[in-house]
Amino acid sequence: MRKKVVVLGSNFGGLTAALAVKHELEGDVDVTVVSAGDHFLFNPSLIWLPFGRREREDITFPVAPTFESHDVDFVHAAATGINLEAKTVSHGSGQTVGYDYLVIATGYHNKDDVVPGFKENAVTITTLEEAERAHVAWKRYLEKPGDIVIAASQSAGCFGAAYEFLFNTAYHLRKNGLHKDVRLTYVTSEPFLGHFGIGGLPHGEQLLGAFLKKEGIESRINVAIDHIDDGAMVLGDGEQLPFAFSMVVPPFLGQDFLKEVDGIADEKGYVNVRDTYQTVGHDDVYAVGVAAAVDVPWQTPTPVGIPKTGFPTEVMAHTAASNIAAQVRGEEPHESKGFGDIKAVCVMDAGNNGVIILADKMLPPRKHGVLIPGPQAHLMKLGFEKYFLWKSRNGYVNLP
Ligand SMILES: Cc1cc2nc3c(=O)[nH]c(=O)nc-3n(C[C@H](O)[C@H](O)[C@H](O)COP(=O)(O)OP(=O)(O)OC[C@H]3O[C@@H](n4cnc5c(N)ncnc54)[C@H](O)[C@@H]3O)c2cc1C
Repeated sequence: MRKKVVVLGSNFGGLTAALAVKHELEGDVDVTVVSAGDHFLFNPSLIWLPFGRREREDITFPVAPTFESHDVDFVHAAATGINLEAKTVSHGSGQTVGYDYLVIATGYHNKDDVVPGFKENAVTITTLEEAERAHVAWKRYLEKPGDIVIAASQSAGCFGAAYEFLFNTAYHLRKNGLHKDVRLTYVTSEPFLGHFGIGGLPHGEQLLGAFLKKEGIESRINVAIDHIDDGAMVLGDGEQLPFAFSMVVPPFLGQDFLKEVDGIADEKGYVNVRDTYQTVGHDDVYAVGVAAAVDVPWQTPTPVGIPKTGFPTEVMAHTAASNIAAQVRGEEPHESKGFGDIKAVCVMDAGNNGVIILADKMLPPRKHGVLIPGPQAHLMKLGFEKYFLWKSRNGYVNLP
């Protein structure tokens, strides 16, 4: 009998896993995607939305036609529960779908209560809707400019987005002739500049320091935010930073319903996985991307999270797809790639400039790691956005 694979989520992890398993088995498997969202979102471009450089339509596409053209069923509904014994997923208003193999790729949501006042008095860019709100706030800011505070809060992991937004802000202040009058401050929980939640890379601290100096940006490093008032951020050490505009990257959490599924998730809602991306206790249930729990290998004075970026998410999804294909063929899962051993490949955009980040491993100890600054990084991000959206919309998930 044909096996049935169910994938929860349809973004970087879910879309890749669903199409990869279909391709690996040359169509000889039923695949159903159940997803709360019906559009793919290229999150890396959210940094440009507030400045009007991108709109929703530029960085999203509907996933149903993509799945349909690859003979994958698509259900637009949020999963609400998983019965590991019965091997079913419940979704929407009480329907269920059965599976032989399940991939959880339900990503993140913001930890909105990270500090008092975050939701009310600052904006963020980590979801499409929030980035659109930030666009409204930025337009209002330009009418009545003042100081700006950009922050990556305690336990945040998406530091790349915070840096990109910071440097894009500096770029737009310059474009609007405001850079001389505005005090721009970067607040971070990182123990040093350029830690990025991955332990830093050779010369990263000096390079980021030089970028900040060039743009006249002040920094507060290794600090927590105590709370955010209307018009001022108050740090853990009591310092007050007044602002007319503030963007904060909060920590991410896994989806709440996963915490209700018999011991598969940790207290943050991230699913505990092995290096095969099978869950710890269940050979037929996988988790990939942000939904998968990753151990943070260090303790920092101010807690930091870990960035589960697009490239490792794709690697995890391909690893899971290969292993499910093996199981369907009656073989043992054979692909294994611990998160820390996946290559780091990332571009940090800075408006008209940027830094290409490459390392042989996401986490130390590493043999190689390099940061390449220059305008080619900005051009690379522009090209990558177009390429990735084209590749994903067409379902060419086996392309690099
Ligand atoms: C501002 C920002 C900038 C970034 N920049 C970069 C970058 O430059 N480079 C890079 O590599 N990475 C970047 N990232 C990280 C990248 O976006 C993530 O690695 C990627 O989104 C992870 O994909 P995912 O599929 O695991 O999760 P998500 O993208 O969060 O997708 C989750 C999916 O699950 C669905 N879902 C949620 N709940 C449910 C449910 N209950 N049932 C069913 N479906 C559900 C959602 O609708 C969505 O389809 C950035 C992230 C942000 C926020």
